[in-house]
Amino acid sequence: MNDAATLLDVCDALLFDLDGTVYRGADPVPGAADAVSRARSRDTPVRFVTNNASKAPEAVVAHLAEVGVPAADDEVSTSAQAGVRLLAERIDPGARALVVGTEALADQVAAAGLTPVRTADDGVAGVVQGHSPDTAWPVLAEACLAIRAGAVWVACNEDTTLPAERGLLPGNGAMVAALRAATGAAPVVAGKPETPLLRLAADSAGSTRPLVVGDRLDTDIAGAAAADMASLAVLTGVVTPAGLLAAGPGQRPGYVAADLAALDEPACRVAVGPQDGWHIDTGGDTLTVTTAGTGDAADPMALLRALCDAAWRTGIMAARPGDDAAATALADLGLT
Ligand SMILES: [Mg+2]
Repeated sequence: MNDAATLLDVCDALLFDLDGTVYRGADPVPGAADAVSRARSRDTPVRFVTNNASKAPEAVVAHLAEVGVPAADDEVSTSAQAGVRLLAERIDPGARALVVGTEALADQVAAAGLTPVRTADDGVAGVVQGHSPDTAWPVLAEACLAIRAGAVWVACNEDTTLPAERGLLPGNGAMVAALRAATGAAPVVAGKPETPLLRLAADSAGSTRPLVVGDRLDTDIAGAAAADMASLAVLTGVVTPAGLLAAGPGQRPGYVAADLAALDEPACRVAVGPQDGWHIDTGGDTLTVTTAGTGDAADPMALLRALCDAAWRTGIMAARPGDDAAATALADLGLT
């Protein structure tokens, strides 16, 4: 890689997480629309990848339009699509599949050449389970009977919670947990941090070197790591600098940035690793930070990349400043 190659140069597709990366609920993430449009102007394929199985791609496209990001239906990859693909690989064409989820999920089942049903009739070959706010005990009872009778069970995702205006609500994983408890069985899982959804998205873009971009280490970045894909963590959603320093081996992004503007920066600068402008002393039980050399000494993001590198090598997560500039940068990162 030459030193000037940007993140857009080093990948052949961008797989964007949505909430916390492109938008936050009803609000756009500042700069996200620009970043997506610059990727398009470079002919880099983009995919919007969502664990939420309750919405059809057209509904995701409609919400993206509301936050200023134009997208086409075939640029959206959902855990419903990935879950149904997993099911279709495991049961016969035309076979009955019990749907625990929305009509959008049932539509996906039908589009895959399977027969969506809502009761555990004789001959149900598979169960596909995705989030629906209408899922109640009667449909879980049908799924329980089908799974106990030997049906293949696919969960679109296992997110235990669903962020909403009023707080965290039960996610699909919570309903999956009920069936795990009642059946003793375990589903095949499509969504992040499992790999099928990310692979579906990369395949649909014809990509062999995708960059996964997201705000959560336990789903986006862990999924990328499991799928052996490069990843960029952005600070516009869930993950914090302290969370990055504490990331376990399966949840460490190769790239870290404040936001999607970094897609146009040299990849070697956005990569986690030592930085010219900062020196980190790893002796003792604290990472001691001082400014060094002639690099971007005032750049807190550069410091964060250097701290991640040091913390992940040594297991030391506590940082303290060795000079005034370091104190300012650590405070900017919320690390003091
Ligand atoms: Mg997110």
